[in-house]
This record gives sequence, C-alpha cells and structure tokens, in this order.
Amino acid sequence: MTFLPEKWQPEAGELSNKTLLITGASDGIGKAAALAFARHGAEVLLLGRSEEKLNAVYDQIVAEGGKEPAVIPTDLSQVNHDQLCSLANELAGSISKLDGLLHNAALLGDRKPMAQTSAALWHEVMQVNVNAAFMLTQVMLPLLDNADAASVVFTSSGVGRFGKAFWGAYAVSKFATEGMMQVLASELASTSAIRFNSLNPGAVNTSMRRQAYPAENPSDNPSPEMLMRAWIYLMSDSSQHIQGRALSAQ
Ligand code: NDP
Repeated sequence: MTFLPEKWQPEAGELSNKTLLITGASDGIGKAAALAFARHGAEVLLLGRSEEKLNAVYDQIVAEGGKEPAVIPTDLSQVNHDQLCSLANELAGSISKLDGLLHNAALLGDRKPMAQTSAALWHEVMQVNVNAAFMLTQVMLPLLDNADAASVVFTSSGVGRFGKAFWGAYAVSKFATEGMMQVLASELASTSAIRFNSLNPGAVNTSMRRQAYPAENPSDNPSPEMLMRAWIYLMSDSSQHIQGRALSAQ
C-alpha cells in the first residue's frame, strides 16, 4: 500500500470541519467508512437504498457521540439526473461545502460468461456503478468546489484494472470508473482544488465478497474496519498531494 505512509495515524479530529458523502453507507465497506469518518470528527451524509439500514448507522454514530449524520435514502438503480439535481439543491440549503465524496455503492451482478449475460442486468450494473456515480459527481461539483481541498474517491476493483473471465458487467463498470476518475482528474487539475482518485479495496470480508467467492473462508479476508486508515487518509488533508491515481488499499 505505497500511497499510505506506513506510520501515518489519524488524529482524533482528523476530519473535523469536513462534510463527507458516502454512497452505499448501509453495509460493508461504506458503513465502516461512514463510522470511521464520523469517529474522526466528520459530519457524514449517508446515502443508500435501505432507509432502515441507514437509520441503524445513524443511530450508531449518534450513540458514539459523533456529529448528527444525514440519511439520504436513494436507490441508485432507479435514480435520474433530475432527482440528483434536487438532492444537490436541497443539500446546498443546509451545507455550504462538501469536502469529500466516496463513491462506494456497487452491484456485483452475475458472474457469467459475456455470452450469457442478461442485458437487463448489464444495464442495472452500469446504472448503479457508473451512471449514478457520473450524475452524482456532476451535481455535487459546485459544493465540492466550495471546499478548500475536496477529495472524491471512486471505489475500484482488481477486475477493473485487469480484465478477467466471468466478471462481465461488474469488471467493465470498474474499468469505466477508473476512466471517469482519470478524465475528471485531468480536466480539473489546473482549475479546481478537487482531487480525484480510485481505490481498490482488495479482498475484504463483506457480503459482496462472500457472494463472489462462496467457496472462500470469509475470515481469511480482513474486515472493512481493519482497513479504514486508507479511507480516512484519502479524505484527510494529509493526502492533498494525491491526485489522479489508481490506488490499492492492500
Ligand atoms: P456490500 O455489498 O457489502 O455493500 C454494497 C453497498 O452498496 C451496500 O451499502 C448496498 O446497499 C449499496 N448498494 C447496492 N446497490 C445499491 C443501489 N441500487 N442504491 C444504493 N445503494 C446500493 O459490498 P462491499 O462493501 O464489499 O463493496 C463496497 C465497494 O467496494 C464496491 O464498490 C465494491 O465493488 C468494492 N470492492 C469490494 C471488494 C471486496 O472484497 N469486498 C473488492 C473490490 C472492490 P444495501 O445495504 O441495501 O445492500
């Protein structure tokens, strides 16, 4: 994990004064990131499709003494540009800036040969993993620009950097994610203080990983909580120099 200085440890208030939006904050890596960001002082905006699961994360943050989060129930497989514009306008009424955006929500889809991939599922994976991330980034740019040094992190995957049989739409969506990160980073490097990077979590013990690798012993992989130093670092001002890079957490 070359991008993260070996001895770097977040201060207790590492992310205080930051407002961070996390997609897929209801479970797995996104939930762990939301809790970790809140524990380090951030105000977190929790976006996900299950209001009940988001409320549980909200309750945990409040119970731990974190800043009161916002819950944004949104099904990214259904959302359109107008709805995300309304969300951005609504947020602009309550926050003056957005310091970070973690694109984490994703759909695994089917692990099948391309020849047997359902077109409907292909579209759904692209909608959640690519189209929604594009639209959400676009509508949030003004709020991100209002921050001194905002950080946008796209969650990638090993199969989004090297194509692999049977990973179909998911792999292709992650290649697109890498491309989106590079285009944005290159476009805005000279005119904006927003930085864009992609992060491949590596194998992490979550429900997506267990679904993708049913024969694997889940406890052979680290829990999301064990890896959060990298996510905190990318949202903190300590990583301001990291821009346009394809990073790996393990
Ligand atoms: P999980 O399946 O545990 O969590 C995925 C999150 O995305 C959940 O919060 C889920 O909501 C949310 N989500 C899924 N579909 C939608 C939707 N339509 N609208 C809104 N939210 C949605 O997966 P991980 O935590 O493992 O994955 C997080 C990220 O890490 C993903 O981008 C994944 O591709 C990437 N990744 C993970 C690896 C791993 O080993 N775990 C390896 C490489 C990459 P809900 O709670 O409702 O299901």
